[in-house]
Amino acid sequence: MARGAAALVWAMALACGLLAALPATIVHAQDRLRVVATTSDLRSLVEAVGGDRVAATHLAPPEADVEHYQPRPRDVERLQGAALVVRVGADFDLWFDPLLARTGRAELQRGGARHVDGSRAVALLEVRGMTAGPGDGHAHGAGNPHYWLDPGNAEIVTATLLEALARIDPTHAAHFEQRRTAFVERLRAKAAGWDTAASALHGKALVAHHNTWAYFARRFRLEFAGFIEPRPGVPPSPAHLARLRTLVRERDVRIIVRQPHEPARSAELLAAGGPARVVVLAASVGAVPQAPDYIALLDHNVRTLAAAAATVFAPAR
Ligand SMILES: [Zn+2]
Repeated sequence: MARGAAALVWAMALACGLLAALPATIVHAQDRLRVVATTSDLRSLVEAVGGDRVAATHLAPPEADVEHYQPRPRDVERLQGAALVVRVGADFDLWFDPLLARTGRAELQRGGARHVDGSRAVALLEVRGMTAGPGDGHAHGAGNPHYWLDPGNAEIVTATLLEALARIDPTHAAHFEQRRTAFVERLRAKAAGWDTAASALHGKALVAHHNTWAYFARRFRLEFAGFIEPRPGVPPSPAHLARLRTLVRERDVRIIVRQPHEPARSAELLAAGGPARVVVLAASVGAVPQAPDYIALLDHNVRTLAAAAATVFAPAR
């Protein structure tokens, strides 16, 4: 848009009172929509749909524990200029609400026109009636929140994002729709290969540090038989680890999964002296260098597991 035309539109919008409450930077981020996501995974999906029409960022660094992110003062500044905010929901990023409240912008709060909850259309697993009490960690009270690790759910989340982006930037709705369709096609083409690779693990029991992999496991027909954390967010007691050692032996568990930020010691102890090995998988885009975007994340995890399976389940010579 020519500078004069842009100024005219801006003046008209102000005159109508439509944009009067929004800082000018929201509209003029190099003519791109500023989108702030809580996680790198959602940022990657926003970029898949928005392309060069969006300037997307994420708040919680993927190489740390995103569920327990401690917001920083500059996060509020970043939210001040956001045209759209996107969260995981399902009690995963509860730390987001106090930050949003501090912006003083009603449209960014839960239920607001510029607030997207990625879990909205997703069928959550492990939904229980009660939230956990104190001392139970974050405990996945609203259901298991790690839904983005199923590529089928990425299709659902990108549909939610498409609806939101098209609503706040209707002139580019067709562009967003085209990009989302292309993304889903790319994802489905990759998923066929992932299904084949993951079949090396069918019928094998696995153990993970945190209950991160419920959706990933459902999609690729994997079985996580136990977790190093007795409840999500709670470190293991010696008694729990002893029970887990029995399970590893009885179920012949040969792969113990942890994320880069999760402590190595318990996983290594569990694997010690047996045929099991510890495999590091990434639950978020950017948690490892091999996962720079959403499709690469899934690709890395499936390929890493399949490579480990080829080693630990190799027939004895
Ligand atoms: Zn969790």
